[in-house]
Amino acid sequence: MNYFTFDEKLLKYDAYAIERTKAAFRDIEDVEEYNQTKVLGAFIEERVSESDFLASTGYGYDDAGRDKLDRIVAKVMGAEDALIRHTFASGTHTLSVALFGVLRPKDKVLVVTGRPYDTIQGVFGIENAPDGSLADFGVEYDEVDLLPDGTVDINAVKSRLSWGEYKMAYIQRSRGYSLRKSLTIEEIKELCSAIKEVSPSTVIMVDNCYGEFTDKTEPTAVGADLMAGSLIKNPGGGIAPCGGYIAGKKRLVEKCSYRMTCAGVGREVGATLGHNRELYMGLFAAPRVTAAALKNAVYSSALFELLGFETTPKYNEKRGDIIQCVLLKNKERLIDFCRGMQSGAPVDSFVIPEPADMPGYDDKVIMAAGAFTLGSSIELSADAPLKEPYAVWMQGGLDFNSAKTGVLLAVSKMIKSGNLKLR
Ligand SMILES: *Cc1c(COP(=O)(O)O)cnc(C)c1O
Repeated sequence: MNYFTFDEKLLKYDAYAIERTKAAFRDIEDVEEYNQTKVLGAFIEERVSESDFLASTGYGYDDAGRDKLDRIVAKVMGAEDALIRHTFASGTHTLSVALFGVLRPKDKVLVVTGRPYDTIQGVFGIENAPDGSLADFGVEYDEVDLLPDGTVDINAVKSRLSWGEYKMAYIQRSRGYSLRKSLTIEEIKELCSAIKEVSPSTVIMVDNCYGEFTDKTEPTAVGADLMAGSLIKNPGGGIAPCGGYIAGKKRLVEKCSYRMTCAGVGREVGATLGHNRELYMGLFAAPRVTAAALKNAVYSSALFELLGFETTPKYNEKRGDIIQCVLLKNKERLIDFCRGMQSGAPVDSFVIPEPADMPGYDDKVIMAAGAFTLGSSIELSADAPLKEPYAVWMQGGLDFNSAKTGVLLAVSKMIKSGNLKLR
């Protein structure tokens, strides 16, 4: 730490925080090693070669590198089949393709993890069936609230499934930007068997955003039939410039492929334009980058707890995603946090974040995002709506050292502006 000079007292807190994270870091490194060798093994088994990185154009017929990467993703995710494409515009688009791929008019879907992520609400069409939503196409929506402690109400899910004919049960793994908990792989496994027990033909779909590589297995290896995620989060490793993936049962992935392009053609078309190399490299980097992001989350949780703030999850809690929430208790600290963190970004460090109105939010939101890829949240980033409980949701970090510096700068900013006094 030569380039930056931090308050002596803050460095003591930093050292305590590092001390506290030792056990969690060992677990993260264990998962990282396991996942890195799993990915490497899949690359070797599929005989990845330089020719797989060649650009296809036009229809993109017979793009061997594209088809091979699909098989690698399937292997890594413990799924029968997968689609990974730069042409998925976002995580929401990818999830939307999977939902529309499987659901048909009059089908019913049950979300078992409470109100889903903001942008997915529009895809389901929960409120007043907007044009193009599933509701607009006649797909019926139901949800089961989470229990007061933020966990899944398995009994309510079971009873709902036993008296309704649900085509799909939908699980959101990540906490998203809420105070609920993320689901661990063990919890997803338990939930999947509970669902299958009462309704074996219901398709279990998982929104796996932010969850990939945080554990040794993925939802499709423990009972989920289908899942999807974004490449500007964990599985893109900070290298994929855009895109998403879908993995799951062969027949379901095939249905998704007809929604991804068109009926009868499916996965046979889709030029890769030279993006294969970035998608391969990103997947290869993903276990390491996810581990760095997890370490930063754990470290930040420990540090802010020592500084006297409530954090969720706790530094020693089992995690199913890379999100860390810190309750900063007032507006001034939220603004300091984001400005401090932004000042340590490798890109746009000189930008000063301002709270602003955002579509879909009633309160102003402030963000820190100094990323190589626009909107990438596997890179160090933070979001905070200016409202009670004045919580900041942070995630990412392409490597731990620079992410930790960003976090220390966030704290330093609060100290310098007099909004935090260290004892
Ligand atoms: C990021 C995310 C999505 C997809 O969001 P995009 O911004 O469209 O990529 C969906 N669900 C959850 C839980 C997410 O974290």
